[in-house]
Amino acid sequence: MQYVGIDWAYRHARWCAISEQGELTAEATTPADEDGLLRLVARLGPDVRTCIELMSGAVSVRDRLERAGWRVEVADARRVKALAPLAAKTDKVDARLLATLAFRDLVSAVWVQSLTDFGQDDPDDLREQSREALRGYLEQLAPSVRPVSAERRFELRFDGAEWSIVGYLDIEDQSGDTVDVKIGAKHVSEARAERDPQPTVYGLACRTEGRPAGRFLFHSIRRGPIRSGERCLVVPAPRSAAQLVAMESRIAQTARQIARCVETGDWPLSSPDGWWCAPGQCRHWRDCPAGSPF
Ligand code: SF4
Repeated sequence: MQYVGIDWAYRHARWCAISEQGELTAEATTPADEDGLLRLVARLGPDVRTCIELMSGAVSVRDRLERAGWRVEVADARRVKALAPLAAKTDKVDARLLATLAFRDLVSAVWVQSLTDFGQDDPDDLREQSREALRGYLEQLAPSVRPVSAERRFELRFDGAEWSIVGYLDIEDQSGDTVDVKIGAKHVSEARAERDPQPTVYGLACRTEGRPAGRFLFHSIRRGPIRSGERCLVVPAPRSAAQLVAMESRIAQTARQIARCVETGDWPLSSPDGWWCAPGQCRHWRDCPAGSPF
């Protein structure tokens, strides 16, 4: 097995290979095109684990390399840049860093989930449907919103805990409402609004920040052809004091379970119906007994 980092640029790709013993065995530049990839695969063989940065074209590069038998992980370029020594920021340094991340199995720290896991849907159709849905939102609901913040970060801390829960609020409105925009094939149902953890954690955050919780509203937008019903709906998600207490207990219980797993090293497999337990979402899918049997 070789571990390879690829820094893909407009005309050239800089690559670096590390052996199983962690020694740098080869590095060079190859044309950033199909021919260059083929030459790289021919030179290094099929037993390669590689890390490339997310950039335009990363998906097709990944697909081509995977077809050649390589294991490919895509890293978030911004996070990789935060790790690189800024004084010596070159393609060569980037390629070495990416190879080191693959060798040390650290890509998870800078990993991005699959961009192409669209299931049965056609990506072009989805894109057009989403554009149409957004146009509907901009006409129907957005004009009534008077934002005072967008993507505001909040942090929930608990006495004695070394960890915290971090969230981002889509929109805070002048009226005191918090708006969370959802686009989907179906509207957010009342049942989902009642049990969704997002508004409950928001309620806890307001309490932590010592301010009254305004209304939490889902702005629900349906994509696709609308044969009946509305394109856009406002679905309120009120929370009672008892629900906030129950959420605190749930968080504490989950934290205790995680602590036990850390102590014993015995981690349970995810429930198979979780959206995260899927090839495009979990980077351990190939190696995990719950994943695909490669
Ligand atoms: S594939 Fe394995 S590691 Fe990944 S979410 Fe499923 S159970 Fe967890």
